[in-house]
Amino acid sequence: MGNRIPEETIEEIRNKVDIVDVISEYIQLKKQGRNYFGLCPFHGEKTPSFSVSADKQIYHCFGCGAGGNVFSFLMNIENCSFMEAAATLAEKVHINLPIQNEVSPFSEKSPDYAEMFRAHDLLQKFYHHLLVNTKEGTVATKYLQQRGFTEEVINRFKIGYAPNTWDVASRFLEKRGFNLHEMAKAGLIVRKDSDGTYFDRFRDRIMFPIWDNQGRTIAFGGRILYEGEPKYLNSPETKIFNKSKTLYGLHLARPEIRKKQQVILFEGYVDVIAAHRAGVENGVASLGTSLTDEQANIIRRNAENVTICYDSDSAGINAAYRAASVLTNAGCTVRVSKMPEGFDPDDYIRTYGYESFQNNVIGTSLTLMAFKIEFLRRGKNLQDEGELVAYIEEVLKEISLLPKAVERDRYLRALSEEFSISLDALKSEQYQIYRKLRKNKDISAFNRNNNNNYTKKIVAKKKLLPAYYNAERILLAHMLRSEDITIKVKEQIGCSFNIDVHNAIALFVYGYFEEGNAPDVGAILQRIEDEQLRRIVSELAMLNININISDEELSDYIKQVLNYPKWLKIKDIETEKLEALKQQDIITAAQLAKKIIELKKNLK
Ligand SMILES: [Zn+2]
Repeated sequence: MGNRIPEETIEEIRNKVDIVDVISEYIQLKKQGRNYFGLCPFHGEKTPSFSVSADKQIYHCFGCGAGGNVFSFLMNIENCSFMEAAATLAEKVHINLPIQNEVSPFSEKSPDYAEMFRAHDLLQKFYHHLLVNTKEGTVATKYLQQRGFTEEVINRFKIGYAPNTWDVASRFLEKRGFNLHEMAKAGLIVRKDSDGTYFDRFRDRIMFPIWDNQGRTIAFGGRILYEGEPKYLNSPETKIFNKSKTLYGLHLARPEIRKKQQVILFEGYVDVIAAHRAGVENGVASLGTSLTDEQANIIRRNAENVTICYDSDSAGINAAYRAASVLTNAGCTVRVSKMPEGFDPDDYIRTYGYESFQNNVIGTSLTLMAFKIEFLRRGKNLQDEGELVAYIEEVLKEISLLPKAVERDRYLRALSEEFSISLDALKSEQYQIYRKLRKNKDISAFNRNNNNNYTKKIVAKKKLLPAYYNAERILLAHMLRSEDITIKVKEQIGCSFNIDVHNAIALFVYGYFEEGNAPDVGAILQRIEDEQLRRIVSELAMLNININISDEELSDYIKQVLNYPKWLKIKDIETEKLEALKQQDIITAAQLAKKIIELKKNLK
């Protein structure tokens, strides 16, 4: 990993940072034995095969093979350079990077990204200052207060005000040395086509910063103060703002999400803020677009239970129905909250108060099935026989998708009771639908329970590896943990591992201990630049091996490694011997047979 940061500083960062904390910011980890497990952020999965070792400060995914230490984790998940990862981690543990003043750590790979982040950060502070401390901001502050925004809320969500001028933001940015052409690309200002001058995108608006999932400001949402169009104006998508991957408020909500093991999903940032005022602090929002698979996966990595709290108008209910299926596919357990028709969370809270929102909206949310039943009923006249039949068929289809027989039975009974239809008739009808769906592979519930297969396959594959291959892996796994074993292996095997990558890893480990270092897989990983090698080393480090290996076992493994090439040679000679016999060359065949016996003696 090429870098301009001194080795000692890198080590200091690695020692101070806890990999479990860092990874927990991205996925929900659960402790199991010595290690932590969670859903891998690098490949799609519904059962956890991503493991993190707090002792060794490394991670490894048994599904896709991703692995490494805290630096490689950050580089892979943020798609950033080593310098950026180091800068982020250093900041977390309050270590000053010596290079900071001359070269921004972000300048290595992506100078324009870094400038965009910096401009957003400064502008966010500037807008907030204008709202809180200036005369121009008083009207906006009053407006916010009238709508129930307390000082605490304004500070927590870093709300600001963009005054009613054309150039306050562009002058602010220009004064601080930003390139205005770049700032237009960042979506903060707009270039006038007619004369090439720049003007502010946001004017006379209450400004809501939008953050990435780590809490960096990447965009703004602006709400008009009184009348005017559009009511809400958001930053356009830019290099740093990708709507489909962003969940508003995630970094703020994360501690509460962890505590409650639940996410409340809203439609927009105003709802998240309103709900926060009502004491609901685990809320996040998609940003004015329907929920994407990527967002659903991010949610699932943070918690399994999700309550959707969308507007209760027709558009909102349709959107909730869509979001529910996206979330279910991502492996979430979904509930849907209910408000009187035509309300959004903000209206509701202002009309009925905080307590009612907590108790009657969030607290009594519907199970997904109950919501679907209500959804299917919308706009239908169930007195009409045709509509009733259509309705029952749709409900039966939903019932067929339920994974548990007990649940299916419960809803069938409810349906039977409500419409006085024979339960047997419903059951047989439902079975027909179930078979049809299964044929069309429409039942995702089917796949849901079959996820272990993948892990099983991996385990099976590993078991089939030849003995010498396993022996090499086990030896390397021991070497990573012990200098003594490394010395023994070096004396007896040296660079004669049969698998090339194993030789490469052995060389790293020999070198590491020769420099007088104590065993530390994380530190060894730090020296390995090759991604493929890193993956294997992290996997070996996570192998469940018996640390107290006897000398006998050890020499047994070493023998397996050293004997393999001899076996290959014996096989070659055996083929030669067969060939000689075919040619009726008895003398050569006899000589070869003798050679084989000698070689076999050698194997012991
Ligand atoms: Zn993975």
